[in-house]
Amino acid sequence: MSSEGKRILILGAGFGGLTAANLLQKNLSSLSSSVKYQISIIDQKDYFMMGLVNLWILSGIRTLEDSKIDLNRLENRGIRYLNDKVTKIDVTSKTVTIRGSSQLKLKYDYLIIALGTEYAIEEVNGFLENGGFNLYDPDQVPKLRERILSLKKGRIAICIASIPYKCPPAPYEASLLINDILVKNGTRDLIDIDIYTPTPITLPVAGAKVSKDVIKLLNDHHINFHPFHKIKRVLDMGEMEFENGNLVKYDLLIGIPPHKVPEVIRNSGLIKQGHNWINVDKFSLKTDYENVFAIGDVTEIKVNENVAIPKAGVFAEAQAKVVSQQIVDDIENDKNKQSSSLFDGKGFCFMEVGNGKAGYVAADFYHVDGPATLLEPPSDESYKKKLDFEKSKLNEWLLL
Ligand SMILES: Cc1cc2nc3c(=O)[nH]c(=O)nc-3n(C[C@H](O)[C@H](O)[C@H](O)COP(=O)(O)OP(=O)(O)OC[C@H]3O[C@@H](n4cnc5c(N)ncnc54)[C@H](O)[C@@H]3O)c2cc1C
Repeated sequence: MSSEGKRILILGAGFGGLTAANLLQKNLSSLSSSVKYQISIIDQKDYFMMGLVNLWILSGIRTLEDSKIDLNRLENRGIRYLNDKVTKIDVTSKTVTIRGSSQLKLKYDYLIIALGTEYAIEEVNGFLENGGFNLYDPDQVPKLRERILSLKKGRIAICIASIPYKCPPAPYEASLLINDILVKNGTRDLIDIDIYTPTPITLPVAGAKVSKDVIKLLNDHHINFHPFHKIKRVLDMGEMEFENGNLVKYDLLIGIPPHKVPEVIRNSGLIKQGHNWINVDKFSLKTDYENVFAIGDVTEIKVNENVAIPKAGVFAEAQAKVVSQQIVDDIENDKNKQSSSLFDGKGFCFMEVGNGKAGYVAADFYHVDGPATLLEPPSDESYKKKLDFEKSKLNEWLLL
């Protein structure tokens, strides 16, 4: 142990990293004063914004600039924040290298990897060259909204490039919100909305029943759903080709990009052969390396042959809680006792449908009878809970 005590290093100040940093600080500071520790969190971005805010910028209730929260606020909470890019993780020497003036090496006693995903929209041939919008890039959403508002007639195509992708209901929410924008703009009758996905049903991760409920929502709003459509390339002249050979015309193209594990993870030998994400124990979130945990979107936690825990903030948060408690228990008990803090596979999300309403999806992925999910019909109440959800998390992590 170093003179500053146990060094806890958290990579990534997103949903998972911010939860872990705050909980660790809260719980370790309440232990005896003889327990010395230092919590550091590293992120290449200097702000936090929830992914779900993309949809609020799209629907016009938020601006991008009003939604970014400065990560320097972490310093007020006794958490050391480094605005830097992680360039190397070495689990043998227990060091992390950050790109700074001098390639600084940081030693850790505990490491939490919460680096999320990277997007690879450039892998969709012709997408960028032909003016496609990446729905998941917050910088592109304000312009996308302008384009939707200026479109007078034609076809809006929403294309899910591949799975897995973050927040599986989000593309369907986007289609419903776009429907809402067009209705309010008086252009809906002259504009078609089409969703294309490589999957056979809307939400494979949520199962057949919830997928059917989503189809019903789409049908009710005259949104066309096209399963088994994996995009192959975008041609000029507003046309795209799918791997099944279909050619489709569009006037405005919106993509959900392919997702990849961040480059630093790929280069650090943390991915097992034949896998694309970090594998962890499904309950403890431990990797194969001593005191190294991985949480959130950077992981793949298989529930059965076909289903993995979805890439969603609520799961990153739940896993961060488990890992923080394990580290606190470990420090407090000095490894004499196994921590009983385990991830239970439970989560939820609010699925916006426009007009100030949202459905509520509850999920229990570790249910004894197999993954269990449920979609509650849209209501004003769930929409309000979604707005409150963001507010309460920001208060917990950065604001209050
Ligand atoms: C449109 C949309 C809607 C969504 N809606 C919901 C929703 O309603 N509910 C829900 O639960 N989830 C939702 N999500 C998903 C949610 O945002 C993610 O699942 C969640 O952010 C994952 O948390 P994480 O901690 O794993 O990663 P992230 O929150 O992505 O954090 C990762 C952090 O690591 C940093 N990073 C990456 N590489 C490096 C590096 N080399 N060096 C330094 N820093 C690095 C990144 O800058 C980032 O800040 C939505 C996402 C989108 C895009």
